[in-house]
Amino acid sequence: MSSTGSVTGSSGFGELLLLGKGSDLSSERGVSCTGELPPSSAPDLVERAEKARKDLGDRAMVLGHHYQRDEVIRFADITGDSFKLAQAAAERREAEFIIFCGVHFMAESADILTSSAQKVILPDLAAGCSMADMAAANQVDEAWKSLEKLGATQGTIPITYMNSSAAIKAFTGANGGAICTSSNAERAMRWAFEQGEKVLFLPDQHLGRNTAVLKLGLKLEECVLWNPWKPQGGLTELEIKAAKVILWRGHCSVHGRFSLANVEEVRAKVPGVQVLVHPECQYDVVKSADVVGSTEMIIKTVANSPAGSIWAVGTELNLVKRLAASNPDKKILFLDKTICYCSTMNRIDLPHLVWAMESLAAGKVVNQIKVADGIARDSKVALERMLALP
Ligand code: SF4
Repeated sequence: MSSTGSVTGSSGFGELLLLGKGSDLSSERGVSCTGELPPSSAPDLVERAEKARKDLGDRAMVLGHHYQRDEVIRFADITGDSFKLAQAAAERREAEFIIFCGVHFMAESADILTSSAQKVILPDLAAGCSMADMAAANQVDEAWKSLEKLGATQGTIPITYMNSSAAIKAFTGANGGAICTSSNAERAMRWAFEQGEKVLFLPDQHLGRNTAVLKLGLKLEECVLWNPWKPQGGLTELEIKAAKVILWRGHCSVHGRFSLANVEEVRAKVPGVQVLVHPECQYDVVKSADVVGSTEMIIKTVANSPAGSIWAVGTELNLVKRLAASNPDKKILFLDKTICYCSTMNRIDLPHLVWAMESLAAGKVVNQIKVADGIARDSKVALERMLALP
């Protein structure tokens, strides 16, 4: 993967960087913006965004992930989860620029699925995903080599969650595996068990465990956790060989924080409440919830519920706030009020969107996300296997 446009070079270790001025490639994918990033206090930001959007017209398509800030979502042509947005980008062949208000792995997927004439733009290159970052390409390669040494790759099918870098998707494609989303993880895992006898699930341990145990009926002890920071994943040869599912030790820093105590507390305090959570939450939270589903399913579940319903929702806060605003006839609570927004997703703000759109309108391509050809080819194989799932 390579990104072009705004990265200006690495600074010295420990050097403090002013946001928007300079970059530290050893810690982030770059935070600099060429030219002037408008201050967030600029009174004409909305006007500037409206003008730049109008100037770009049909040449651009703005995609907004459900977890984005309101100030950004209002400029999105389409809102959705990561897969829906990548598909939307692939369908609009005439749009020269896909301005992706999401995180890095989502922009990569959009680049893989769009035509070579289209350019995918991430308004802030520092908008990454902590879960995707928990599975680095070299760590996954080392893990696979360790499994190979034990003769354990034969019959092991990698299933990789959409929330992963293009390099990990490419590893999956090259090794007979498929990508999954939070809506089709069960189908993908069943398919994998038709191809082999063991699954390596990357990078979200919670989605992997919840799917294996709560959907496929495997036992908890048939799932083992691969710690990429320990030799041989911190597992014995016997544990690896006996496991049905090897879970990568990654998690979402937002959803992973909801706890069983949150569920018990809301049930004790709010009579009639139903708990609705995302499958990236921990096993005991998902097991005790009333309804579990992807972001799209959470939105539909609330929208289709009768007036007067009370929901405690365990997902990203921007989305929960919008759910409350768009369902005034229902009571929408946040499952844990101490949990905040997805901080990396929220790096995309109105100043960055304005800067990106004005630059593109002025003929300057900034923050383009371009996946290297070989990686894109193997990733596409894994994505297409997912699309072909029954
Ligand atoms: S909510 Fe979690 S999985 Fe989604 S982008 Fe943020 S850190 Fe990544």
